[in-house]
Amino acid sequence: MATDIITALKRSAATPDRPWLLNDTPATYADLLAATARLANTLHALGLTKGDRLLLQAEKCPEVLTLYLACLRAGIVFLPVNPAYTLAETQHFLTDAEPALAVADPDRSLAIAATGARSTALPDLLAAAAAQSPVFSDPAHGLDDLAAILYTSGTTGRSKGVMLSRDNLASNAQTLVTLWRFADTDVLLHALPVFHTHGLFVATNCALLSGSALIFQRSFSPDAVLAALPQATVMMGVPTFYTRLLSDPRLTPDACAHVRLFISGSAPLSPATHADWQVRTGHAILERYGMTETNMITSNPWSGARKAGTVGLPLPGVSVRVTGPDGTPLPPGEAGSIEVCGPNVFHGYWRLPEKTAAEFRDRWFVTGDLGAFDADGYLSILGRAKDLVITGGLNVYPAEVESALDDLPGVAASAVIGVPHPDFGEAVVACLVPAPGQTLDETGLRAGLRDRLAAFKIPKRLIFLNDLPRNAMGKVQKAALRTTYADMFQDR
Ligand code: AMP
Repeated sequence: MATDIITALKRSAATPDRPWLLNDTPATYADLLAATARLANTLHALGLTKGDRLLLQAEKCPEVLTLYLACLRAGIVFLPVNPAYTLAETQHFLTDAEPALAVADPDRSLAIAATGARSTALPDLLAAAAAQSPVFSDPAHGLDDLAAILYTSGTTGRSKGVMLSRDNLASNAQTLVTLWRFADTDVLLHALPVFHTHGLFVATNCALLSGSALIFQRSFSPDAVLAALPQATVMMGVPTFYTRLLSDPRLTPDACAHVRLFISGSAPLSPATHADWQVRTGHAILERYGMTETNMITSNPWSGARKAGTVGLPLPGVSVRVTGPDGTPLPPGEAGSIEVCGPNVFHGYWRLPEKTAAEFRDRWFVTGDLGAFDADGYLSILGRAKDLVITGGLNVYPAEVESALDDLPGVAASAVIGVPHPDFGEAVVACLVPAPGQTLDETGLRAGLRDRLAAFKIPKRLIFLNDLPRNAMGKVQKAALRTTYADMFQDR
């Protein structure tokens, strides 16, 4: 059974002066434990009890993590919300999750209170906590008790609340700590958002379970990351962190000399970026794959081949299969639907039992991603099932075309979508971003693609853009691209 995150926190706090935050205002694990107790006592004093939801909408700061842990101690379900969401967007979470308390940055807190929901400003909550006892007597918790609800980013339809239990979080973090060899000597550079599973759970829980220290940065900035790298031993990032750092001349082997591990996830890392990073720094980025509903699913290994363009092997204790349309598992080399089961898989969508049932095949969660295993058991992601392009009755996996495009000289990034077409049903369309200082030439690109791809996979149109639309985690917003270009073949 995995060590509960609070048990691990208490163990680290028992070592005097063990560092938790290495920021301008440093803190030890003992400081953190006391701060979580003060906040947990405050939440009880406000009348919150086990199972109540607490919504938090605040800019990234260390206190977000303190409040997450206070909720975990008190058995209150933590519900973090992207601070960029408008009040109208946040209203959906207030109505759907009915939080007993919404904590937010001061202006937003006033706006939430004006809707009739109970709200307090984060600074006020922290001020009230200062007067509380630094000791909290933790109630008993069950492994299946809810720890958090994270809403999916909801690119299609309404965003759904993903219910995650204490054991979902602890078991996955324990597996990652072992696999990635986290130890209390590690210093994790944390520049990810903390309203999403990557920054909130993968990064933070690995640090908490292993007693590592964090360098906690407000947001990603190449200046701040490059300044902190000499103190860090591990960095977790989304692919855009790596591409942006690569365009900075200060990224050298010396700048990375202290780091033992660079990890990437949340969106595809192109093989070109993987190769460039290795040449520039001497490090092979370790790519892993997961989602809000499942925590982490696969990872490239710590020792052994880190294969670019793959997301590695199923995590120990996690079962992964690739199936055909009728649910039959497919052999290596064949593309199909990725399905997962294990202690990492969530307990359902909040108040949506039918939607939950529809996304499971027996005990297997259907991720909505398409992929294929290779002969060595490494998984490659071929895109979201809803992004699969069917052109003239033939399947085109966007990831395959994107990878061919990314290999061509002068291409910095690409996104392949299907656009309605009168003859083909859908046509393959590629949006391309040139590398800095480069101009892309359509004829040259097409010639390059003809060597690599069957004719039906070659995009009917190439669209050149300065940037691709991405969300906070660096994921390309394909739905937005499909909307923009929906009519491009309609007048023909
Ligand atoms: P989220 O729930 O926001 O974490 O999004 C999960 C989705 O991100 C997955 O279902 C995948 O489509 C995508 N994803 C996560 N990690 C990777 C990766 N390493 N490569 C490609 N796609 C990824």
